[in-house]
Amino acid sequence: MNATYNHRDWRWQMRHRIRSVAELQQRFPGLRSKMAGIAEEAAHFAMAIPPYYAALIQRADARDPIFRLAVPQAVELCDPPHLAADPLGEEKHTPLPGLIRRYGDRALVLATNTCAMYCRHCDRKRLTGARETALPPMALERIASYLRIHPEIHDVIISGGDPLTLSELALERLLTAIRSVPSVEIIRIGTRMPVTLPQRITPALVKLLRRFQPLWINTQFNHPRELTSEACAALARLADAGFPLGNQSVLLRGVNDSAKILEELLRGLVRHRVRPYYLFQCELVRGVEHFRVPVRRGLKIMAQLRRRLSSLAIPTYVLDTPTAGKIPLSAATIVSAATKKIVLRGPRGQLIAYPEPVGR
Ligand code: SF4
Repeated sequence: MNATYNHRDWRWQMRHRIRSVAELQQRFPGLRSKMAGIAEEAAHFAMAIPPYYAALIQRADARDPIFRLAVPQAVELCDPPHLAADPLGEEKHTPLPGLIRRYGDRALVLATNTCAMYCRHCDRKRLTGARETALPPMALERIASYLRIHPEIHDVIISGGDPLTLSELALERLLTAIRSVPSVEIIRIGTRMPVTLPQRITPALVKLLRRFQPLWINTQFNHPRELTSEACAALARLADAGFPLGNQSVLLRGVNDSAKILEELLRGLVRHRVRPYYLFQCELVRGVEHFRVPVRRGLKIMAQLRRRLSSLAIPTYVLDTPTAGKIPLSAATIVSAATKKIVLRGPRGQLIAYPEPVGR
């Protein structure tokens, strides 16, 4: 195979991901002086960067948003005490291995703990990357049986890790098992593959997924530079095949915490038939303090976006909470906002405190 062909092959991209500090240094020789901190963090939380995504980095420096999303930094180890490994309490809502149920009518299947890239802001750092495994067939059977005896679950979200790292055969098994449950109306796939490895959205994959409609696909573009020609072609393949597409960005300091950057991203998504769905406030997860943006600032950005964009391009700015689910962040839900802490009112009237980032 020649090099051009290789780069277009998603399996080649997966095999050639940057996985070690030595490979990172080889790809970005200018990083030599920062290697000690990077190595310490990479040992703590897995690193993987496909060559495709690494090529989007314009300078090997944390001021580059793409670099910041992909490359470990020593600051990831500076956790204030309000951060936790599992801030949403997903482990407590796990009736079976591989299944999370935080809502009555929905359930989430953790299909794999493999991703093409291990995003530095990931809120499932506790699960992803350490060992790249997928849900065993026996666990899948148990999940299908659970869904059968819980017909109140109508909506199954397949997540992970990234489910589209699975082979077509494994995906077919997974989707067949879930679709065999008559009460499951909608399947949603949460994937960052259109962003980090768009070569994965092959015609064969699209053909397979079409057999399991109605199927929604939610992706996570965080910066307009991720909307490359390859990514846009992948989105077009999915949209042309009839999948409703949504995007769930995370508000991240130094990546997209400006109305100008988000406007460009949101306009680009709508242009490519992707509906901006959520803009998440960063979870209180270990290793992400340096990404956190004060809610006060997030609200200002949203107000600016509302003045500039049509409602079609405006995502709902939300905080996911362990006790009240997703709460929209707006004047209507914020009871008080101090420098160190905001207090929100949940859907049942409960008060929820959220610490703002340290020192901002
Ligand atoms: S693709 Fe999703 S699950 Fe995987 S590391 Fe990124 S944010 Fe986490």
